[in-house]
Amino acid sequence: MTIPECSRTLRVPAFTTAHSHAFQRALRGKAQRPGPLAQDDFWTWREAMYTLVEGLTPDSVEAIARVAYRELHASGVRTVGEFHYVHHAPNGVPYDDGNELAHRVIRAALDSGLRISLLRSIYQRGGHGRGLAKAQERFADKSLDASLRAISDLQSYYVNNPLVRIGIAPHSTRAVHPAAWKEIVAFAQGRDLPFHVHVAEQPRELDECLHETGMRPLQLLEDRGAISPRLVVVHGTHLLPEESEILGKSQGFVCMCATTERDLGDGLPNLGAMRAAGVRLCMGIDSHVVCDPFDDMRALETHERLRTGRRVAARVAHPAASLWASASTEGAKACGFDGDGPSLTVRTDAPFFALVDAGDELDALVFSGTRALDGLFA
Ligand SMILES: [Zn+2]
Repeated sequence: MTIPECSRTLRVPAFTTAHSHAFQRALRGKAQRPGPLAQDDFWTWREAMYTLVEGLTPDSVEAIARVAYRELHASGVRTVGEFHYVHHAPNGVPYDDGNELAHRVIRAALDSGLRISLLRSIYQRGGHGRGLAKAQERFADKSLDASLRAISDLQSYYVNNPLVRIGIAPHSTRAVHPAAWKEIVAFAQGRDLPFHVHVAEQPRELDECLHETGMRPLQLLEDRGAISPRLVVVHGTHLLPEESEILGKSQGFVCMCATTERDLGDGLPNLGAMRAAGVRLCMGIDSHVVCDPFDDMRALETHERLRTGRRVAARVAHPAASLWASASTEGAKACGFDGDGPSLTVRTDAPFFALVDAGDELDALVFSGTRALDGLFA
């Protein structure tokens, strides 16, 4: 084997993280010790997150977002889908400009060198048959009309900014009334908005949706007309193979958030069924517990290896190229950005590529790269 000494570069599309909650960057290092209950899970982690929410101010929301987004930029991310759900002051009192916090987050992203799709959430209740908890009052608008008006106002405000997209994000089937979906879907389809929903992340959410409506969350979305190429199912950890088929037929997306799902103990999705059904895959950093797009990208293959006990789960000609597309251009499309978008120049004379054969560079990057590697990006 010869080690090439010439200086070479590889041009690749920049990463997209299609699902982010930037304020959760402030939780790093927290909620990693046993809580008062016998066991910890997503729901106990959520209590720590809600404590953080109660103290947020417009200035701290912007400051935390700047930290999160600068870190993303340094990792090779150039497009972020921000699933934005803290809208109001404590007790649910709207700011003078109802979109104050959305504007702050968008400014933080643009100043950090990122394109942003602001996925403005709709959050109506604390769960199936439950009112809002204290922290959740900051997420909820006075009415569905008020939610849709806020989205419409954001669209008008940023209509001429090519670095900003506005999408709609009904939070989940637990946080949105079953009766509200049809109006939300009609509004989104009339404006061709990216449509992001947390779906099938937790078994409890599935059970409660089934109990309330007689349908699982994806079935409910199908019943309400929400299945479309604009739909981005966030997580999809507990989707059934037949649900993946419904999604795949319409060319919908699943946004897997591997580093967060791993941290929360959510479980492993059936990626094989998703791929076989033609579901489009993208990735999200979600809670910012780990900021490494290589890790999130690679997990779209390696978590399936762990689940199935097999290697090379993606049965396509060049899995690394497919994974890189999921982690970049596919994610950007899920966020409403079409076209080639920003790119990265990788130095293939960096020490990382020592002993890597010519032609294997992308495979090496995808399966062995990390964001911490010095001198990787030109
Ligand atoms: Zn999320």
